[in-house]
Amino acid sequence: MNPTFPDQLWINGQPRREASGGRIEIIEPATEELLATVPAAGPREVDEAVAGAAEAFRSSGWAVPSPKRRGEVLREIAQRIRAQSEELATLEARNVGKPIDDARWEINAGARCFDYYAQLASQPSGETIPVANGGLDYTLRVPVGVVAAIVPWNFPFLMAAWKVGPALAAGCSVVLKPASLTPLTALALGKIAHEAGIPAGVFSVIAGRGDQIGDHLVSHAQVRKIAFTGETVTGARILRLAADDIKRVSLELGGKSPNVIFADADIEAAAAAAPSAVFGNTGQDCCARSRIFVERPVYSKFLEAFVEATKKQVIGDPLDAKTQIGPLVSAKQRGRTEQYVEYAKEEGGRIVYGGTRPTEKGYYLTPAIVDGLPNSSRVCREEIFGPLACVIPFEGEQQAIALANDTIYGLSGSLWTRDVERALRVGRAMECGVLSVNTNSSVFQEAPFGGFKQSGIGRDLGVEAFRQYTELKNIFIRVPGWES
Ligand code: NAD
Repeated sequence: MNPTFPDQLWINGQPRREASGGRIEIIEPATEELLATVPAAGPREVDEAVAGAAEAFRSSGWAVPSPKRRGEVLREIAQRIRAQSEELATLEARNVGKPIDDARWEINAGARCFDYYAQLASQPSGETIPVANGGLDYTLRVPVGVVAAIVPWNFPFLMAAWKVGPALAAGCSVVLKPASLTPLTALALGKIAHEAGIPAGVFSVIAGRGDQIGDHLVSHAQVRKIAFTGETVTGARILRLAADDIKRVSLELGGKSPNVIFADADIEAAAAAAPSAVFGNTGQDCCARSRIFVERPVYSKFLEAFVEATKKQVIGDPLDAKTQIGPLVSAKQRGRTEQYVEYAKEEGGRIVYGGTRPTEKGYYLTPAIVDGLPNSSRVCREEIFGPLACVIPFEGEQQAIALANDTIYGLSGSLWTRDVERALRVGRAMECGVLSVNTNSSVFQEAPFGGFKQSGIGRDLGVEAFRQYTELKNIFIRVPGWES
């Protein structure tokens, strides 16, 4: 499949082939060659998109109480995504370097996200409340206004869908800014939404460099909410900027997630699942279980099985259906991971497997497994965002919990045990927003996703995300003769 490379921004219902920020060159991670160029928005395009979004919020009819039209358009977007899913998946695989099967899954999950919020748009969402005075007290959820949705490069289409779906369903207008490394599927989504009948201004997509337009977009007086996924340092900066005019903010940030394996667990199953839990998306996953804690009696058995399972992972061309691990997204990201392999050696760690370049071309790196490092080491404390896992022994439940929680992050985690009571105890004690027991993942469209501590504020997915694009209003109507 030869995809058409999207090369236009979408601002107020119009395609833009030129923009004031020049052009962004996109390099294909598997070949290191130029894949495409797209226009880069500057502050001028940010102003136009935000002003158009504010005007559309006031007058396009999108934000009015009746959700029927919103549901119809969102369902149409989902259908059009499905109709183009192969082309979108190929774009994502080539732009990010991710295996085509993963890209297919993500595009279809994006379509499911629009469908889910299409039906949620018409669910009852307020309540009536008995109050002290005579009359009717009820709550209403109203859309928050113009939303700036800012997404990262690791799951570009999916992260965009997670924000744009609920925001549009709630009646907001959205300006989407994809990461400059990976804007292609977001630009394609702009066109899809336009063809699905979204009113002009309700949804604009502006590719642009974070350091050139990020602050301008975040500080814009007409933006009422920032929905951000990205690094914790960027999130902290956004939070500070948003404080000036009390913007609503939801942040999905970094992680350093634990994978805790007790001696009573199914060790074969835990070891077979561990490579995809940490090396999926070539380790460029906020949920990557990169700190693997193993109860001492089964430590050697697990480590051996984990290394064997990792060796079997197929590294290769993202467009080959057999590939499980593609290249990293950029030379910079591979260099960063290699730097942490060096830190691991300097800190006294043993590289049990990987950490080397398997090919001449492409930003590939063999997944690295390290043991002999304490949880206090730099490699175990900092988010690397590349294929590097540390395996650390522990003794007993209390130490497992203490080690798992000894991090500034709190996004996700896994726990492997056959003891149900232990699963309940340890699961409750682990400080993370998303936890899976005896499996790798607990991320579902219908369930809330987000982090504790420096992994973020607020939640994506589920009903929770929808609510975060609304303001809650309480109304009381005095009714003479109506005493509660
Ligand atoms: P990043 O913070 O560098 O960039 C994210 C987005 O923010 C990009 O669109 C970028 O252009 C933009 N940006 C940069 N500076 C900005 C500024 N000053 N103001 C506004 N926007 C700005 O992150 P990244 O490198 O693209 O993504 C990797 C990070 O994302 C990792 O830390 C990862 O853990 C995190 N992540 C978190 C989740 C989650 O749900 N918690 C999911 C995916 C990725």
